[in-house]
Amino acid sequence: MNHAGDTSLLLTSEEVPPVGEYNAAGRSPFFLTCDHYGRLIPRALGDLGLPESERVRHIAWDIGIAGVATMLSQQLDAHLIVQRYSRLVIDCNRPPHAASSIPRISEATTIPGNQGISSEAAEARRTEIFDPYHRRIDEIIDQRRTAGLPTVLVSLHSFTPVYAGVARPWHIGTLYQRDTTLPPLLLKHLRSEGDLVVGDNEPYAVSDETDYTIPVHAEARGLMNTGIEIRQDLISDPAGEKSWADRLARIFGEIEAELRQRGLLSA
Ligand SMILES: [Zn+2]
Repeated sequence: MNHAGDTSLLLTSEEVPPVGEYNAAGRSPFFLTCDHYGRLIPRALGDLGLPESERVRHIAWDIGIAGVATMLSQQLDAHLIVQRYSRLVIDCNRPPHAASSIPRISEATTIPGNQGISSEAAEARRTEIFDPYHRRIDEIIDQRRTAGLPTVLVSLHSFTPVYAGVARPWHIGTLYQRDTTLPPLLLKHLRSEGDLVVGDNEPYAVSDETDYTIPVHAEARGLMNTGIEIRQDLISDPAGEKSWADRLARIFGEIEAELRQRGLLSA
């Protein structure tokens, strides 16, 4: 079926756009990203061959992080950008050439709709979901620089409490690779809370092979940055989401004051 003038292979004009933004006029130095915010699947891909029970699991998205991210954005007066389609369609925090970009298997689940897809189909996922999201992040950082607003990139994620049968003890983890300023500061603040098991590059570490947002947008531009992973059972309802947004807003407020005092926040 051919629609004259519709060049899209994947997302028709009636579908939800991949990129969402909150509080775009926010003045905070913290710029929040949420790569795994949503679990939508373009209609053209059906259900990717998966039952509902798989499409709501952590393999499809970062459970709970949407609520935390939007509340944190409000409380910090910070610009937040989100990507609404499932990481099973294309993972916006993987280099597009990585095998896990369009996963054939996630945890122990085979993704039928991702088996043997053509290079054209893979390219459509990239050009219609991955590229617009990352292009917009680029633009936002450029605009902030032009406006004289400093940018500290905070990449928000959540992790499953049990992965491949192994329980994870951390409540929250700080994730980083090249930034030596913000991650230690965040670790110090999280540890001084007193009631948290804090992961230092746990349950994951950032790398050029397994990540995209931090290496490409923050590290390559020399921006201060950190990733944050919150355990999903702690943010599985609105009360949990709010308590973590409140806690992180307070901590990032303190960190901002400290960075300003040290003269580290400039555009
Ligand atoms: Zn994530």
